[in-house]
Amino acid sequence: MSEKIVEVDTIVLGGGPGGYTAAFRAADLGQSVALVEKRGILGGVCLNEGCIPSKSLLHLAQIIKEAGEADKFGIKFGKPELDLEGIRGHKDKVVSTLTKGLGALAKQRKVQVLNGTGTFTSDSTLKVEGEDSAEVKFKQAIIATGSSVLKLPMFPFDDPRVMDSSDALELEEVPGSMLIVGGGIIGMEMATVYSALGTEVSVVELMDQIIPPADEDLVKPLARMYTKKLKAIYTSVKVTKVEPSERGLLVSFEGDKAPEPTLYDRILVSVGRVPNTRNIGLENLGIEADERGFIPVDPKRKTSAENIYAIGDITGQPMLAHKAVHEGRVAAEVISGEPAEFSPLCIPSVAYTDPEIAWTGLTEKEAKAKNIAYEKGVFPWAASGRSLSNGRNEGTTKVLYDPESKRILGAGLTGTNAGELLAEANLAVEMGADLEDVSLTIHAHPTLSETFALAAEMAEGTITDLMPPKKG
Ligand code: FAD
Ligand code: NAD
Repeated sequence: MSEKIVEVDTIVLGGGPGGYTAAFRAADLGQSVALVEKRGILGGVCLNEGCIPSKSLLHLAQIIKEAGEADKFGIKFGKPELDLEGIRGHKDKVVSTLTKGLGALAKQRKVQVLNGTGTFTSDSTLKVEGEDSAEVKFKQAIIATGSSVLKLPMFPFDDPRVMDSSDALELEEVPGSMLIVGGGIIGMEMATVYSALGTEVSVVELMDQIIPPADEDLVKPLARMYTKKLKAIYTSVKVTKVEPSERGLLVSFEGDKAPEPTLYDRILVSVGRVPNTRNIGLENLGIEADERGFIPVDPKRKTSAENIYAIGDITGQPMLAHKAVHEGRVAAEVISGEPAEFSPLCIPSVAYTDPEIAWTGLTEKEAKAKNIAYEKGVFPWAASGRSLSNGRNEGTTKVLYDPESKRILGAGLTGTNAGELLAEANLAVEMGADLEDVSLTIHAHPTLSETFALAAEMAEGTITDLMPPKKG
């Protein structure tokens, strides 16, 4: 039987947030587009095994936690009864609502979705193998194949008790004890979920701080609270050996503060992700991945090949859905002749822990490493009426600014809803706002969003809710 031939202006390889955004935008700009995806459903890691299922579970964890703490305010709830099938059902329903929606949007735009694994055979042809086997002829291509879990060989992944983030999100059971290897964002979000469900969670992190890219002052309140909530957090410690037995997984550690070998029911390995650059036929495009496997691109997201673009996790850090989406739009607009470029002043990061940690633009860590002059204004949420009304006082909002121009360079928040509150800081950085732009904007009272203006007032010395910081 002769193979199906598909001819399009643009082929997009990979149907995650980067890929489907690029395909939809290119179609809206008049291109004929095919989108190749091997998992049989659109949405990529983010919708199917990342952002969305994790946030669905985090929401349930939040309910359990708040109900458990309500007795502080004179309200008593009983011990929660967990129906794991019901919990998984909620998560799966959210995911399927969103992925089905993407299928419908692709249809409406006449984007041809080809289910199968794609490999470039030349700079104008791609072979698809699977349900929709075909040879695709294209004028330009956008590579959006994303990333996969980094599986360190030391961990026996063939033992079902050793999990990656996708396994953990399946929530097969609530184990009695769990070691999370890697205290990055995935590790700490999963610690939040499993500890709320009743698992005794320990975290081991190689670096001297959990969530290492965030500033220490933002992470401290979280670390303080999680040291109580979790069984243990071991920083500057690494795992040296895992010995599976019927009784559990015996883990040995190394480092100044390393514990004795300990038995766990389950291990979650969350030590990062690697780009999916292998087996996609990059060699047939004349493109070379860098030493870490990422595809180098220019600000228009063009690779070293004239008609080939790359977006999302495959192009490097930060591996975030919103970065992939924006890159996808840029690539689609550039190939459609629009003057687009990916040159953001800030890409926000949020850890959806409790409290949340959120930062954008310049961090203090980065400023110190690059010798960038900055000053900061910090507003402690212990002085926020709204935060105290919510029964929380551990939050903080800080704004980093240029000492000369007072222009806002970055911001960081720890606290409930910090991820939502960060939006104003993103806009401030992108719009080139200075401290006065923020402090003279009237913020509703009592809101947590006020804390951003109050941090600017702290920096200016105009604050009245607290004593202004002493000059110098
Ligand atoms: P992906 O989403 O990885 O999609 C790539 C797609 O390409 C996949 O569906 C894959 O099947 C397909 N593919 C690969 N090779 C081929 C091939 N040869 N042929 C056909 N198809 C192929 N980011 C956030 O911003 N916020 C969050 O809250 C967040 N939470 C996360 C939680 C977890 C547990 C994880 C693992 C990640 C999370 N992320 C989050 C990261 C986010 O999921 C990724 O940054 C995002 O999905 C990257 O999008 P992408 O389009 O580059 O690639
Ligand atoms: P990560 O790189 O964010 O964190 C991995 C952590 O593991 C790091 O802190 C690292 O120091 C540590 N580590 C590495 N090797 C170790 C070892 N041998 N022993 C102990 N610790 C070790 O990676 P991740 O948490 O796996 O997440 C992967 C990607 O997914 C990230 O790029 C992240 O941005 C993205 N993600 C984002 C969100 C969000 O935006 N809320 C949520 C989940 C994942």
